[in-house]
Amino acid sequence: MKNLSSADILAGRLKYEVDRKGVSTDYVASCSGISAGVIRNYLEGKQELNLAEVGTICHAIDVNFFRIISNRYSKPKLHFRNIKETARQHAAKIEECYLLFNDNLPIPQIPDVSIDDSFDDRIGLIGIIQPLIKEIKARHGYTIEEVLDNIRMPIISARVPPDEFDAFLVNVHPYYAIFVNENAPPNRVRFSLAHELSHFLFDREMLVPVDVNTMVNLYAASFTPEERPEFVATKFAQYFLLSFDALQTICSNWNKWLETLNLNRAQKIIDENKVGLDVLLNGIRDMCDIHGITIPYKNVKDHLSSNLKFPTDSAIYTYLQKQKKQIGEFINSNRESYSDSVLDEIFKSLDIPNQ
Ligand SMILES: [Zn+2]
Repeated sequence: MKNLSSADILAGRLKYEVDRKGVSTDYVASCSGISAGVIRNYLEGKQELNLAEVGTICHAIDVNFFRIISNRYSKPKLHFRNIKETARQHAAKIEECYLLFNDNLPIPQIPDVSIDDSFDDRIGLIGIIQPLIKEIKARHGYTIEEVLDNIRMPIISARVPPDEFDAFLVNVHPYYAIFVNENAPPNRVRFSLAHELSHFLFDREMLVPVDVNTMVNLYAASFTPEERPEFVATKFAQYFLLSFDALQTICSNWNKWLETLNLNRAQKIIDENKVGLDVLLNGIRDMCDIHGITIPYKNVKDHLSSNLKFPTDSAIYTYLQKQKKQIGEFINSNRESYSDSVLDEIFKSLDIPNQ
């Protein structure tokens, strides 16, 4: 076997980074002003190395040039498919910023749970998720904040336009962190934290995309290998926040759900678990589905929203601020590792006060 030259190594890294950004060679060419032919040669390791040119290519795809050429390079497992250009740029900036200081953050504990990958149907997957949630809660805590604190998962957050993305898992093993968009409504933030926890538990070995609001049709009968992790993470979050057992107690006869839905009980569960309308609505739809009943989505939504109160969950923002303060402290205690301009960049991107 021939030894890899530095051009080969760099070509492999560049190709990996271009691929996970989900952009074409022509796109990179148009952003960098370097011809598509030369870009292709770089990605295939056929181009003689010109570091200034590599820097320009990195800049065009929002990648930190120094990370690419570093001998400590490892492949991040975040994929930027199916998001708009501004969202990709914002998410990439946040990820690169995290990769500047990730080795100063706690390494989260990986809980010993795994998911049976022989199911791809909707009801089957809902069934196998329930015991996994129970196991996680029994070992690590009842609320999402407790579980994330318990496994020492770093949480980073910043304000990003709400239509760009909700959250993502940054993943360069053994370093992980969950990023959430602070501009998302509180119920969405809580849901996203649980959704990303699922990606950490079950999907950390694969490329996982930046999460936007509508990733898969949640009511499909079965899922492709690409859709499955999204469905699982979404259902994991839903049932983490509103357990299957609790859901079963709010209605005595699902065939007559409208007449037998116990609104007092439902309200109590909403208040205790800080559940949003979508989580309750999707839970009720799942229960009806499991009982073979089709219900008009809009009627249920109207019935729930006119009879129940969904309070604002300010506790989740308090949690994000506490996490932000901690991240700031970790970075500050290692200030000497960074130049002033890098520190500025980190604090600005993550909206952390630079003390
Ligand atoms: Zn996801």
